[in-house]
Amino acid sequence: MVAVDTHRTPERVTVIGAGMVGLATAWFLQERGVAVTVVDREGVAAGSSWGNAGWLTPGLATPLPEPAVLRYGLRAVLSPSSPVYVPPTADPRLLRFAAGFARHSTAARWKRAMAALAPINGKALAGFDALADGGVAGETVEAKSFLAAYRTEAERGVLLEEIEHIRAAGQDLEFEVLTGAEAREVEPSLSGAIGSAIRLHGQRFIDPGTYVHLLADSVRARGGEIRDGAAVRAIRDEGATGVVELAGGDVERADAVVIATGARLGDLARPFGVRTIVQAGRGYSFSIPLEHVPAGPVYFPSQRVACTPIGDRLRVAGMMEFRAPDAPLDPRRVRAIVEAARPLLRDADFDARTDEWVGSRPCTPDGLPLIGATRSQRVFVAGGHGMWGITLGPATGQLLAERITTGRAPAELAPFDPLR
Ligand SMILES: Cc1cc2nc3c(=O)[nH]c(=O)nc-3n(C[C@H](O)[C@H](O)[C@H](O)COP(=O)(O)OP(=O)(O)OC[C@H]3O[C@@H](n4cnc5c(N)ncnc54)[C@H](O)[C@@H]3O)c2cc1C
Repeated sequence: MVAVDTHRTPERVTVIGAGMVGLATAWFLQERGVAVTVVDREGVAAGSSWGNAGWLTPGLATPLPEPAVLRYGLRAVLSPSSPVYVPPTADPRLLRFAAGFARHSTAARWKRAMAALAPINGKALAGFDALADGGVAGETVEAKSFLAAYRTEAERGVLLEEIEHIRAAGQDLEFEVLTGAEAREVEPSLSGAIGSAIRLHGQRFIDPGTYVHLLADSVRARGGEIRDGAAVRAIRDEGATGVVELAGGDVERADAVVIATGARLGDLARPFGVRTIVQAGRGYSFSIPLEHVPAGPVYFPSQRVACTPIGDRLRVAGMMEFRAPDAPLDPRRVRAIVEAARPLLRDADFDARTDEWVGSRPCTPDGLPLIGATRSQRVFVAGGHGMWGITLGPATGQLLAERITTGRAPAELAPFDPLR
């Protein structure tokens, strides 16, 4: 624990952003007796918390900058069909992000970042259990089968090696290796092209959009207000009060403010000393009908495609496109996911796909989130979780609520200092 000298527990907090991270923070603040108002420029789950893959996989929540990203090389990342895409650009912010990201994509930095993530990953599922115990109606589903599937045995080696490093960082992850035939016995939806697999244990999944709406319902039921269509253009620290200025000229006043605006976090946080760039890593998803809906998530690591059963359909998600968060959906990216996944699934109708969606993962150059205080005693940030904001949202909210109400930063948050 790090002691903070002058501390007054806030009675009222404004949270900006009604995604998983903002709403979980609001909920755990309420748990500690704080009154909350959540404001969102659009509404609940309007950002990346909607169409994502919904995996609650602390066992796989690893830092995004990794040596394999560098192995793709420049030519690969400039191709629109590549799973990691950086458009040719002169945008100095994006270039700065890309340079920082490349600098962190070494084995040594990955290990350091992994060690920083392991303690919060260890709290991830308990965070969901605390929400359930407190009355959030959203169901988390234990993944009876969670398969990472490959064409060849050789491809499997990359994840097996990563699992060794994940375990070395102190994170638990149980698994078994399967042949292609064994994998098809578990999940008949896998095609004959699958030649090997890894079955992971102890992970869960959700329908993220539905879950985040149920979390919002619980925040409201506990007396919180959620304001839709309330875009924040600035925050002012007026000494005793944090003032949130809305686009229409209206203001929200509170004792403290939490910025949880996903890929747009930097816009509001920069004036409070947060210099780490939060870049939109845009991902795409759609859903398809198929004959045997898998019992749990299916991951095709070589193609970087993530599939999750949601209702009677399969959500198929993928791509990492470093672009502006409000750029339009690029149909080439959807087609690239279709072409990558089609040969790997059996009796799946990709032409009947619906719900095409693009969302922005809030990515940082070092692969670590930003959770904690800023230069202002009244302004906090919660975000930058990249690929893992659903998994880590509740644990983030729990730890940040502790920091805000006690003035002491839990040890798990030390590596995520927003002023680093
Ligand atoms: C294809 C894909 C698959 C993914 N799969 C997974 C997965 O399986 N598991 C996992 O853990 N994570 C996954 N992720 C990542 C996860 O979706 C994100 O990390 C997470 O949703 C981030 O949540 P957030 O609350 O920080 O941001 P968001 O959900 O983006 O919420 C931010 C909110 O802030 C609002 N906002 C922004 N600016 C303002 C402003 N100025 N004023 C008011 N409101 C504002 C927005 O409208 C938005 O509602 C995936 C992401 C993608 C794209």
